[in-house]
Amino acid sequence: MIKAADITPLDQWPIRTDHPFIIAGPCSAETPDQVMQTALKLAASGKISLLRAGIWKPRTRPGSFQGVGAPALSWLKEASLETGIPCATEVATKEHVEEALKAEIDVLWIGARTSVNPFSVQEIADALKGVDTPVIVKNPINPDLQLWIGAIERFAMNGLNKLMALHRGFSITGNRTYRNAPMWEIPIALKAKIPDLEVLCDPSHITGDRKLISSVAQKAIDLGMYGLMIETHPTPDEAWSDAAQQMTPDALVAMLGELRWRDPGVADPGHQQRLAELRAEIDAIDEQLLQYLSERMQKVRSIGAYKKSNDLTILQLERWKEILETRSALGEQLQLDESFVTRYLELLHKASIREQSKIMNEGNEDSVLW
Ligand code: PEP
Ligand code: MN
Repeated sequence: MIKAADITPLDQWPIRTDHPFIIAGPCSAETPDQVMQTALKLAASGKISLLRAGIWKPRTRPGSFQGVGAPALSWLKEASLETGIPCATEVATKEHVEEALKAEIDVLWIGARTSVNPFSVQEIADALKGVDTPVIVKNPINPDLQLWIGAIERFAMNGLNKLMALHRGFSITGNRTYRNAPMWEIPIALKAKIPDLEVLCDPSHITGDRKLISSVAQKAIDLGMYGLMIETHPTPDEAWSDAAQQMTPDALVAMLGELRWRDPGVADPGHQQRLAELRAEIDAIDEQLLQYLSERMQKVRSIGAYKKSNDLTILQLERWKEILETRSALGEQLQLDESFVTRYLELLHKASIREQSKIMNEGNEDSVLW
């Protein structure tokens, strides 16, 4: 498991990493002029930490634009030198790593379609052994926290300790608001597991739609994420990849000005004091809730024993329907979120059935439900 010492503190990185860490630039480098124009506009704002451009593009279908390839590395580097903003690109093979290092790209990122594959990640981590380049690891396309952690570990184990993670959402099918489901609980769990690792958010690839970027960016900030990666293009509608989600540099700068930046507040004793008072009240309520749940479970067990001795079914459908209806109505009156109350009741019902099943099937563990 990754340890605190495996992550180099941000003030020891070769590039500036102040909060908020904003990465911007086109989805793909298309022409030297497009890269330079984007960079110059972004640089004028003074708000951009890292200039991005995709050189090799992992596209879903083979007919799409696959990126310009190695020749575009010098366009990115020139734009970076001209503006003084360090640059980053995505690498997916050891050949990409060799080309990117030759071109002196400052930071490399691992795309979602690469971090899903331990062989590819290992190949890249091996190609980077002995190099001091920072690496940003996007989440794998599927919502698998262990796979994301594993990818990060493969770099740390090879001595690549200047690491950040980047949340870009997870593949989903069917009806959807976003191109990729945010599933915020996964980046939160990552941060809880590796607190020294800063997590960034990529609202462009989460939303797939420039109109939705600002609200997702704000949510990422509200959750304490360290920065954002946002795709920018001088004429987004004409972009050769991801046109619908790219925004102009001017629109991005305006959006950055409107976002409400938040601070964890850990260094401020006043905030800590007030939060501690409110949390003490929460602690007391949690204690009561657990006491009640324990008492409720005792009753569930008594009912289980009664059902057992009278050969009654555990599931009593009418009663379950009644619980759902009455508690949902009460929850609504009490201004509790409807889906929260439903999920809570389902969880409670499942746990109760399991308890009663244990009583009914004493001595026969195989028949216990769930
Ligand atoms: C990208 O950043 O251009 C990209 C390909 O992203 P992802 O790996 O998140 O799909
Ligand atoms: Mn893209």
